[in-house]
Amino acid sequence: MVASPIEIQSRLERILQRVQKPGRYVGGELNQVVKDWDSVNTRVALAFPDIYDIGLPNLGLAILYDTLNKRTDVLAERAFCPWIDMESAMRQAEIPLYSLESKRAIAEFDILGFSLPYETLYTNALNFLDLAHIPLFSVERSASDPLVIAGGHAAFNPEPMAPFIDAFVIGEGEEVIHDIVNAHQAWKASGAPRRDLLLRLAKIWGVYIPSFYEPRYNPDGTVCEIVKLEEGIPDRVAKRLVAHLPPPPTHFIVPNIDVVHNRIAIEIMRGCTRGCRFCHAGMITRPVRERTVNEIVEAIQESLDNTGFEDVALLSLSSSDYTHILELVDAVSERFEGKHLAISLPSLRIETASAELFEKLKGARQGGFTLAPEAATERMRNIINKPVSTEQLMETVRAIYSRGWSTIKLYFMIGHPAETLEDVQAIADLCKAVLREGRKLIGNRANLHAGVSTFVPKPHTPFQWVPCDTVEQIKAKQLLLKKALAGPGLKLNWTEPNSTLLEAWLSRGDRRLAQVVYSAWKRGARFDAWQDEDHYQDWMEAFAENGLDPAFYTHRRRFLDEIFPWEHINVGVTKKFLTQDYTWSLDGKTRLDCRQKCFACGILPGFAELRRQNPGDVWKCPEVSRGRVNAQAA
Ligand code: SF4
Repeated sequence: MVASPIEIQSRLERILQRVQKPGRYVGGELNQVVKDWDSVNTRVALAFPDIYDIGLPNLGLAILYDTLNKRTDVLAERAFCPWIDMESAMRQAEIPLYSLESKRAIAEFDILGFSLPYETLYTNALNFLDLAHIPLFSVERSASDPLVIAGGHAAFNPEPMAPFIDAFVIGEGEEVIHDIVNAHQAWKASGAPRRDLLLRLAKIWGVYIPSFYEPRYNPDGTVCEIVKLEEGIPDRVAKRLVAHLPPPPTHFIVPNIDVVHNRIAIEIMRGCTRGCRFCHAGMITRPVRERTVNEIVEAIQESLDNTGFEDVALLSLSSSDYTHILELVDAVSERFEGKHLAISLPSLRIETASAELFEKLKGARQGGFTLAPEAATERMRNIINKPVSTEQLMETVRAIYSRGWSTIKLYFMIGHPAETLEDVQAIADLCKAVLREGRKLIGNRANLHAGVSTFVPKPHTPFQWVPCDTVEQIKAKQLLLKKALAGPGLKLNWTEPNSTLLEAWLSRGDRRLAQVVYSAWKRGARFDAWQDEDHYQDWMEAFAENGLDPAFYTHRRRFLDEIFPWEHINVGVTKKFLTQDYTWSLDGKTRLDCRQKCFACGILPGFAELRRQNPGDVWKCPEVSRGRVNAQAA
């Protein structure tokens, strides 16, 4: 018998004083939405499978919460993973995982939707299901269990989670979530078996039902084919795309405790035209669609009125590429003058973050300034297609230091294809050169923070074929940097090699890895995204138990004509384009920003009708004439 909200509440009261940060588990924040359970047709639990502090500010979750709760026939509530102390207290007190708003057991909802932005949340998702008393494997669920769906960037290779999820959303969720709710309502009214629901969902654009597809393997372990098991469903599931970005959420939930970002987050544009070859987000979120300056300013105003926050993040993959960035910064400064807002523009491109932009941003309260050259030599930057010159970078840092910022953060990656130790040494040399410039301009106040992560090859990118560095290679490169990047004003952060490898196994994994995920979770793996929670040994044992070799997934250069485990997921960018871009990278050949020249990546032919229906400036891809893609795009 499922515990009632009253039982859950009373059991919670007995344990909350014994756990860290009880505010994570009680809800009741400003702007939460509480509806009458019995007055709606469909109840959706939106889950971010990490703790409240990390999950609450997630923009994807806020968008879905907002759009679903606007419907009178639907309620959406939130749920997060309990931290380790709370998990054990909940298990002892027999409290099932519950939603923050109504304290309902998650198992009572019609739909449970996981947000999976990155792979290291997979074991947490299994733990979430277990704590919610929902069968872990899709095949074990009955009509009375919630429909378990998942979306987010990691879902673009859904295979390592395939047996646990009933339906994946591939792509953007704002519209498809309503299609899923409508299909669920129609199915519920029909009284048909659960399989009928899955069949209905499989016909929705952007929905992938893993149990309707079966991967087969070659003797060498690579995928031989992916067989479709049902008639009338797509051979390849095309990602969902919204032609126009819908109005952004403005009723952000105001937490009662500190979380990673206490701020208003407005997405100013979606997609990126730069084509950095390592960048998963840049490839899967094409095409670029922008919001208008007016819409953004009005959304900030509404959000300020609704929340009282003082920090505003204007989000996109590359903020300074937003066509009207100067106009936007002017409009924001003018409208909110004297309000002491902190405006952040994360992800500024070095070559488009102009002195004029810094001049305009000078007035806004700002923390450190972050730039991401990603590599320190021009050779390496050409390979990854981030062809900014060192002189350009130096000009930009001079512009920043001289306008009053004392700390610059530079992001790099080690482990890019064809990288040598000289390229790694160049990172240290470049950081020191930047700090020297800062010292010349503002003396000892100048600081330089270097964040150095390790490159993980991602599916659907031009680097999906390349091997990832081994632990030994990563450690040697990190040691070099630790020795070379020490001294006053310099700070270095890096990613632990074990975390990198875990992400690398899972991001290009196949369906067989699901058993490894399951075994690792059984052994205690969870919170894999947390560097202090090291479950590397559990994972190694899980691979051994299932007779799989982790190196097969990480350190193997994949055949150019290899069938990938994610081959049946169509992100719009074609494999032909990615193959060409990969071979170009081997020759150090770069591509321009595709707003200057369309390289026919596949988006336009794939979404030609949608582009035709949305002419003009809405998309940053060329227009499409009836019957064929515009000659400019071909
Ligand atoms: S279709 Fe052309 S302009 Fe559009 S994203 Fe692809 S390369 Fe860029």
